[in-house]
Amino acid sequence: MGIDADVLVVARAAKGFMPDDEGLALFEAGAMAAPVGPLLEVGTYCGKSAAYLGAGARAGGTVVFTVDHHRGSEENQAGWEHHDREVVDPATGRMDTLPFFRRTIEAAGLEDVVIGVIGESTTVARYWATPLGLLFIDGGHAEDVAMADYDTWAGHVAPGGLLAIHDVFDDPADGGQAPFRVWQRAVREGFEPVSTTGSLRVLRRR
Ligand code: SAH
Ligand code: MG
Repeated sequence: MGIDADVLVVARAAKGFMPDDEGLALFEAGAMAAPVGPLLEVGTYCGKSAAYLGAGARAGGTVVFTVDHHRGSEENQAGWEHHDREVVDPATGRMDTLPFFRRTIEAAGLEDVVIGVIGESTTVARYWATPLGLLFIDGGHAEDVAMADYDTWAGHVAPGGLLAIHDVFDDPADGGQAPFRVWQRAVREGFEPVSTTGSLRVLRRR
């Protein structure tokens, strides 16, 4: 089954960091994993990847939770490479991507399947109890932050469920190494590599 054409238009237009081919691979993975359990994303930003995952969740008959404090990663702050002035709240001078996320999901018609969870990823993980069909790690890319996401969330992936990791570059010339180290650790700990699409790597828990 292909992705809903109206969702695709919104996902492609949304602000964010998800090339279309990788977004479509996420959609496929989400739809495939749906029978195992709900999907969960770490790193919502403006809802771009959540729209692809939401389409997959709907196709597979489940939902996707997407976790973010909406204050941006280190690399999204003013002066850093991935900063966008439009997502700064003029009232406080702090980043706030929540209104953008809400608009993306509303425009995509996915409010019934994409559930925003607003908070620090590791705090949410500590109280989480539902086994996941798919976990997508795309939060902070500093080594300690990315590893903490893996540490606190990976155990929630159900047997047979999928783990997707974004921005995995095995060559340091192509990008930061933290997501690659997370991927290496997942492989060491028994997750089986399933597919690679650009910088998106999908693994399966045995
Ligand atoms: N998946 C998005 C991009 C995510 S960018 C897309 O498709 O475009 C990374 C996001 O992770 C940022 O919005 C940032 O606020 C969030 N983030 C970083 N560290 C976090 C943490 N410790 N807890 C919750 N969210 C975090
Ligand atoms: Mg990313």
